[in-house]
Amino acid sequence: MRFSNFFLPTLKEVPAEAAIASHRLMLRAGMIRQEAAGIYSWLPLGLRVLRKIETIVREEQNRAGAVEMLMPTLQPADLWRQSGRYDAYGEEMLRISDRHKRDLLYGPTNEEMVTAIFRSYVRSYRELPKTLYHIQWKFRDEVRPRFGIMRGREFLMKDAYSFDVDFAGARQSYNRMFLAYLNTFARMGLRAVPMKADTGPIGGDLSHEFIILAETGESEVHCHRDLIDMPAPGIVDWDSDLQPLVDARIALYAATEEMHDEAAFAAIPADQRLSARGIEVGHIFYFGEKYSKPMQCMIAGPDGVERPAQMGSYGIGVSRLVGALIEANHDEAGIIWPEAVAPFGVGIVNLKPGDARVDDAAATALSVLEHAGLEPLLDDRDERPGAKFATMDLIGLPVQLIIGPKGLDKGVVDIKDRRSGERVEMSLDAALNRLTAARGTG
Ligand code: ATP
Ligand code: MG
Repeated sequence: MRFSNFFLPTLKEVPAEAAIASHRLMLRAGMIRQEAAGIYSWLPLGLRVLRKIETIVREEQNRAGAVEMLMPTLQPADLWRQSGRYDAYGEEMLRISDRHKRDLLYGPTNEEMVTAIFRSYVRSYRELPKTLYHIQWKFRDEVRPRFGIMRGREFLMKDAYSFDVDFAGARQSYNRMFLAYLNTFARMGLRAVPMKADTGPIGGDLSHEFIILAETGESEVHCHRDLIDMPAPGIVDWDSDLQPLVDARIALYAATEEMHDEAAFAAIPADQRLSARGIEVGHIFYFGEKYSKPMQCMIAGPDGVERPAQMGSYGIGVSRLVGALIEANHDEAGIIWPEAVAPFGVGIVNLKPGDARVDDAAATALSVLEHAGLEPLLDDRDERPGAKFATMDLIGLPVQLIIGPKGLDKGVVDIKDRRSGERVEMSLDAALNRLTAARGTG
């Protein structure tokens, strides 16, 4: 991609309304534009990151056996009257009426709709377990939308719903998502800690929030330090008993403020205790018959007796993750994307557009890197080198390939690592070999 052909409206000024780094940087890097409170356009650079995150989430859901579908954003109010949530949901729900005066709502979540879908096709235990998910925009009329897309009103969520015949099955479905989430966040270079969360009237221990530690997080959390460095499970045999893998993680103390148990926390050696702020990027929840019972989603067991399906729901804040990733990866100069979610893999800086040698070298680099699947972005604008360096650092591509006339006189170009700032000189061929070889091993 050539910069001159792309649409990347960066801002020089720090927008006054942005209180945290990720919000400021997303506006400055031309990733999003606010259209109304908590409602954003995703500009091309932002959309590329959103799609990368979405893809990782999708791949890990599929791997764990969940099945993708797509439900609409608008839902009939009648569905929510069946579960009793139409009135209970309160002001966060955006209610709409169509030209025939029928009540609709913009979905804040999809338990009702997925239950209605399931009950109209599935009757027998033979078709279970099943986990269905979609990645769809949600609307919640938050009282205080803030921090940009971190707490938006319209936001992109992956929500999955599991259906099982009994509690043992539901627990296995829950455990699958628990482990899939750890792999999902690890692939983005994030350490998300599962923390015990409120189960409300359902009770039990099957509710966890996945938290990224960050000073600007809205949640107060407490956990054992060892959890922070615990690796994701990686390759999992999804049909095996997953309880030991889950137990290894929930054995150590970790709780959000609502579930915090001072006494249990005090029992941890002082130097192992961690109280911090965090960003909730995911939430998994077993709720049994909460929707299947009132909505009559009945499954006949092997004994022929019909019982309400045992259900759970599993959310990931796909758009919130863009902000969470920036909170975890930035410096004074801008964003530092982990490779897996970077909007472009390499930024090529042409220091002197119009100079035939430099233009040729930059065009060669663009073509070679594009063919290697590295998704390069070539800054071919007629701007001062300083401005180009600043833009590249701001948008945070992991590697920069800097090509200028002085270097070419000596037969070299520069490769700069965005995270370390380290710059090395080498021939253009060597640089292209290095970048294309690094792909897949990094
Ligand atoms: P919060 O406590 O942050 O309001 P929630 O408990 O309401 O979150 P869930 O209903 O569990 O959230 O939704 C699943 C995920 O969707 C959350 O873990 C979060 O990552 C994301 N999410 C929820 N509300 C928003 C929002 N207003 N803007 C962006 N992402 C959100
Ligand atoms: Mg909420």
